[in-house]
Amino acid sequence: MSDQVVVRFAPSPTGPLHIGGVRTALYNYLFAKKHNGRFILRIEDTDRTRYVHGAEEYIIEALKWLGIEFTEGVHKDGEVGPYRQSDRKAQGLYQKYADQLVKDGWAYYAFDTSEELDAMRERLKEAGSQVQQYNYVTRREMKNSLTLSEEEVQKRIDKGDPYVIRFKMPKKEDIRFHDIVRDWVVFHSSQLDDKILLKSDGMPTYHLAVIVDDTLMGVNHVIRGEEWLSSTPLHVMLYKALGWEAHIPKYVHLPLILNPNGKGKMSKRQGDKMGFSVFPTSWTNPEDGKVSSGYREDGYISEALLNFLSLLGWNPGNDEELMNHDRLVELFDLGRIGNSAAKFDLDKLKWFNQTYIRNMANEDLLPLVKNFDPEGKLEGVEDNFILQAIELMKERVTVLGDFVEMAPYFFATPEGYDEKVVKKRWKADSPAILLDLKNKFDSISSWDSEEIEKVFKKHLEDAELGMGKVMAPLRLALTGVAGGPGVFDIAALIGKEETLSRIDIAIEAIPV
Ligand code: GLU
Repeated sequence: MSDQVVVRFAPSPTGPLHIGGVRTALYNYLFAKKHNGRFILRIEDTDRTRYVHGAEEYIIEALKWLGIEFTEGVHKDGEVGPYRQSDRKAQGLYQKYADQLVKDGWAYYAFDTSEELDAMRERLKEAGSQVQQYNYVTRREMKNSLTLSEEEVQKRIDKGDPYVIRFKMPKKEDIRFHDIVRDWVVFHSSQLDDKILLKSDGMPTYHLAVIVDDTLMGVNHVIRGEEWLSSTPLHVMLYKALGWEAHIPKYVHLPLILNPNGKGKMSKRQGDKMGFSVFPTSWTNPEDGKVSSGYREDGYISEALLNFLSLLGWNPGNDEELMNHDRLVELFDLGRIGNSAAKFDLDKLKWFNQTYIRNMANEDLLPLVKNFDPEGKLEGVEDNFILQAIELMKERVTVLGDFVEMAPYFFATPEGYDEKVVKKRWKADSPAILLDLKNKFDSISSWDSEEIEKVFKKHLEDAELGMGKVMAPLRLALTGVAGGPGVFDIAALIGKEETLSRIDIAIEAIPV
C-alpha cells in the first residue's frame, strides 16, 4: 500500500445530508488536506428501496456550499464523477468477489423466501430466544447451499430461483480491530449474523460494496460515524476472507452528536421542536414537497458552521476556538478526536456565526446580504449604500438575514412606530422639540455623522434639553424602533432630505 493518505466520504442517497454527515465529511477532508492525500466522494446507492430522488444532487450541492472539496469522484476538470456503486455494479465489479467467497467457503447461497425467514424468526421468538437472526445456528435449518445438496443448489440456480449470497460468519472467533479513537475493539463472532452480501437482484449490499470499493480505491483510513462500529467486525472478516488483510484500513469511529439538551442523538424531530436545523442546506422532500430548513438558508456562513462542527468531537489541544480553513487544516489531528458524545450547542454556533460575520470584509458580505432580502427591500439600492449599512450593522447581527430584518429603516421610511417605545419615549413636547431640531439640521451643509452630532449637541445646550428627551424621539422618528446603530450614523446614511422628511412624517403620524 502506498503511504499517501486516501480517505472517502461515502453517503447513501437516502435523503439529505445530516449535520453529523457533514462533520464526517469535514474530518475526512481536513485529514486528507493536511496530508496531501486523496479524498474520494462515493455515492453508496446499492439499496434501491431506500433511494430518494434528488438526494445525490443535494449532497453534492451542500458539500460545495460548505467548501468541502474532493480530489476524486466529482465533476471537475473533465473527470467523471461521482463514483456511484450502482454504476460500478453495472461494470460487474462486485459479483465476482461474492462468487469468490462462495468458492472459498466464506459465503453461501440462500434461497429462503421472506415467508420462510419470517417463520424462522417466529419460531425463535416462541422458543424464547433473545435474538432472531440468520446465524451459525439457524443457518443449519434453512434452505441454503450448506443444507441442500450440490445438485439441488445447481438445479435451483439454473431454474432461476431467486437467491442471495450470505457471509458465513465463523462460530467462535474473537474479531479484533484497532480504532484510533477507541484503541482495540473486540467482538465475538457468535454475536454476529450471516449478513447478506449480494441481493437477489445481483446488487451488492453495503457491506460487500464498501470493502470491495475501499480496497480497489486504495482507501487506507476509514473515518465514519459511531453507528458503523458494529459493522466493522464483519468488514474485518471480509478483508480476511478476500485475502485482503493488508488492506484493512485504520479506523476512526466518530462519537455521536447529541441534541442541545444532551438527550439522545441529534434528530430532526428534536430540531423541529427546539428550532434548530439538522441539514446544511434546505431540503425539499420529493414525496410531500415539505421543506426542511438548512443552515445556508438560515443565514449561516459556511466557514463558521465548519469551524463549529470541527469542535464537536475534536479539539486542537489548546484553547483556540476560532480557526479558519487553513488553521483547521494545520491543526487537525486524528489523535485528538475524543470518544465521548458531543452536544450540539446552537448558541455556540450563533456565536461563531456572529464572529465570522464581524471579521468578514464588507465587500464579501455584500453578495450574501443581498441574498437575504425576501421582500426585495434592497432592490434598486446602490451597493455603496448597502456596504455602509453593512458596516453599521455587522457588529449587531447573528445571521445574514438580520441585516435587512433588523434594520429595514436603512432602506425605507418606517411604516409604523413601535407602540411600547412610543408610549415610553414620545412625550407631549416631542413634536415641538423635533421640529426645532429639524430646523437646525436643515442648516447643515456638509451632511455627515460628526457634523450632525455637533449640531445636535449644540442644540441641546442652547435649548437646555437633556439627551434622552431629544435622542429617543429622534431615533423613533428615523427608525420606528429603539436600539440599533448610532442615530447620527443612521441619519448620515439615509441623507439629509430623508432625515428631515422622516421627522415630519413622525410628527404627523404619532399621536401624543
Ligand atoms: N454508506 C454509508 C453511509 O451512508 C457509509 C458508511 C461508511 O462510511 O462506511 O453512511
